[in-house]
Amino acid sequence: NTEIYYDDDADESYLANTTVAVLGYGSQGHAHALNLHDSGVDVVVGLRESSSSRAAAKEDGLEVATPVEAAARAEVISVLVPDTVQPDVFEQIKPELEEGDTLQFAHGFNIHFNQIQPPENVDVTMIAPKSPGHLVRRNYENDQGTPGLLAIYQDYTGDAKGRALAYGKGIGCTRAGVVETTFREETETDLFGEQAVLCGGIAELIKVGYETLVDAGYSPEMAYFECMNEMKLIVDLMYEGGLGAMWDSVSDTAEYGGLTRGDDVVDDRVRENMEEVLEQVQNGEFATEWIAENQANRPVYTQLNQAEKNHEIEDVGERLRDLFAWEEGQTEQEDEDEEQ
Ligand code: NDP
Ligand code: MG
Ligand code: MG
Repeated sequence: NTEIYYDDDADESYLANTTVAVLGYGSQGHAHALNLHDSGVDVVVGLRESSSSRAAAKEDGLEVATPVEAAARAEVISVLVPDTVQPDVFEQIKPELEEGDTLQFAHGFNIHFNQIQPPENVDVTMIAPKSPGHLVRRNYENDQGTPGLLAIYQDYTGDAKGRALAYGKGIGCTRAGVVETTFREETETDLFGEQAVLCGGIAELIKVGYETLVDAGYSPEMAYFECMNEMKLIVDLMYEGGLGAMWDSVSDTAEYGGLTRGDDVVDDRVRENMEEVLEQVQNGEFATEWIAENQANRPVYTQLNQAEKNHEIEDVGERLRDLFAWEEGQTEQEDEDEEQ
């Protein structure tokens, strides 16, 4: 019986006579700022003087100031710069926080792992759209919503939830539904999901499948189609109708083979590995490692990022995607998103 909030549960008057400072104009920042603005909320975008995003925000008709100036003017400060720079930006704006202001986040990492320690006399809230920013904007423009999460870390005013829901309404999340959670749960499930399943797990599954076929003498093109390209088609079916829609849509042979062999591949060892990954998220080991990695200018990240780009499957994919025009039907917006 998880609480889910919709438009009718959210009262936009909580943001009347309120200025929202949106710090950052990237993936989430541009979407929140534009959606709030179109919802009639007074928005000021906070960007450093040198920022390459300044021109875009101004061109989009928004007022731009420095993060410090924006925070000074606002009662709600939405922190949408990258997670790794949030502690720095927070130290800059901290003197501008006034009693009863709201610090609003879209991810709990810095609050949960104590990289940001807010004063006691402000509200600390989270509205986290469960989608990339460009979709948050596109959905809003199409009169649709984007599902999101709500969490309250600190309720100084007693109105924290009302204000957060008003913010969620302003960016279009309550049109689709906002699920209540905690900073801890959001942070830990998000980190686990991206490490074990979504980003880390799936990339390894694809690479190992590809390598297994190529090492056995099959052509890289065939291996690419089987292990990478078809992934999207399968995931689309799951997204639309769950595992059932996927199993219904593939052949009975694929269903029988998948159901009998899948758990031989992702076996109890993998389950134990996932439990280990979760433990490192929960006990803060991962957070400590990533914070130190950033302080050291990302030596491991830089190396792994490069190695991944050099994997053979990337060359094969680039060649095949050029040969086959299966992306021709995509919309201009999708082209734009990919360029971001
Ligand atoms: P982005 O990487 O897209 O943010 C980039 C913006 O931050 C740019 O406007 C950039 O401007 C600004 N910025 C970067 N460094 C600094 C700095 N040192 N000082 C001031 N401004 C800076 O961030 P995201 O939108 O990806 O993430 C924002 C938050 O949203 C994070 O907490 C993230 O976890 C969360 N989130 C992200 C999702 C996503 O899909 N991306 C989904 C859900 C939540 P400049 O030109 O100055 O560099
Ligand atoms: Mg202020
Ligand atoms: Mg994440």
